[in-house]
Amino acid sequence: MVAVAFDYLAVGSYTEAVARLGEYGDEAKIIAGGQSLLPLLNLRLARPAGLIDINAADQRQPAAEDGLLRLPALTRHRVLLEHPLVRRHCPLLAGAVRHVGNVRVRNRGTVGGSLAHADPTSEIGSCALALGAQVVARGPGGERVIAAAHLFVTYLTTALAEAEVITDVVVPVAGPRQGWAFHEMVRRTSDFAIVGVAAWLELPTGSDAVSAVRVALAGVADRVVLVPPDLVSPLVGSVPGDAEFASAAAAIAGSVDPGSDVHASAGYRRRLTEVLTARALREAYHRAQGAAA
Ligand code: FAD
Repeated sequence: MVAVAFDYLAVGSYTEAVARLGEYGDEAKIIAGGQSLLPLLNLRLARPAGLIDINAADQRQPAAEDGLLRLPALTRHRVLLEHPLVRRHCPLLAGAVRHVGNVRVRNRGTVGGSLAHADPTSEIGSCALALGAQVVARGPGGERVIAAAHLFVTYLTTALAEAEVITDVVVPVAGPRQGWAFHEMVRRTSDFAIVGVAAWLELPTGSDAVSAVRVALAGVADRVVLVPPDLVSPLVGSVPGDAEFASAAAAIAGSVDPGSDVHASAGYRRRLTEVLTARALREAYHRAQGAAA
């Protein structure tokens, strides 16, 4: 199949993109890397009257300042994988993005597009939740900041308003005693994840007792989900071992209610959640301690 006919407008700024979106109402779509949108167009699952190309809207590169790593929305997955600032200040994202699609997808796909697309199996979406990331959205009324925890609404749906465009993704810079891990199960390399787990945790200076921990899951609901704090809070204040990680992972797996489909049953997804969460927490903890993962 081929896409239905549409107007194509290449814009030179996000402000222009917002203005063009306003003119079309809900009849236009932003296009960034096109890696999710083009398949939807070709299958005629999306039939926009106008396609607003933002690729020339922004030439910025990732930058670190005041304890924050700022990723322009058009940052390609390949740049997340390779950029020294991302690898140093946000190793979870750099580590997880190698699981996204294949080389071709990573060369074109963007961080802003991934978050706006809101796929429930998204590696980048689950990492954004585990990292406490924020997105900057520009709309007709100006800019606003949306916490990743409030961005994902349901399947392929975000809290972005009709004429809003993501311009930046902002992530706290990794501290010296923070650890991270991302694990996922796929049937074949480059497939979408059946289940993915992003873990982030922090230890205070001079102690191995966990001071903060976040876990986010992909593939278990209609959106990527941040595990409720009470399910990981038993780890806080303790020097956990395998039994504590296994117990937290079992509680987290017991809290999810995934669906069954042609790829996996609900029971298998729940089991994967438990196994991968225990693995990710253990690895994140060892990284925070400074041990080789
Ligand atoms: P586009 O396709 O250009 O746009 C996607 C959606 O986001 C559209 O609705 C568009 O209007 C909107 N949008 C884009 N940019 C913005 C913005 N700045 N502000 C507001 N709205 C915006 N993804 C995964 O997470 N994991 C995978 O394993 C994976 N595997 C893939 C395998 C294949 C073969 C393919 C083709 C894709 C795969 N993807 C996967 C999707 C890929 O990661 C996409 O790149 C990503 O989801 C969307 O980024 P994009 O820049 O290509 O967005």
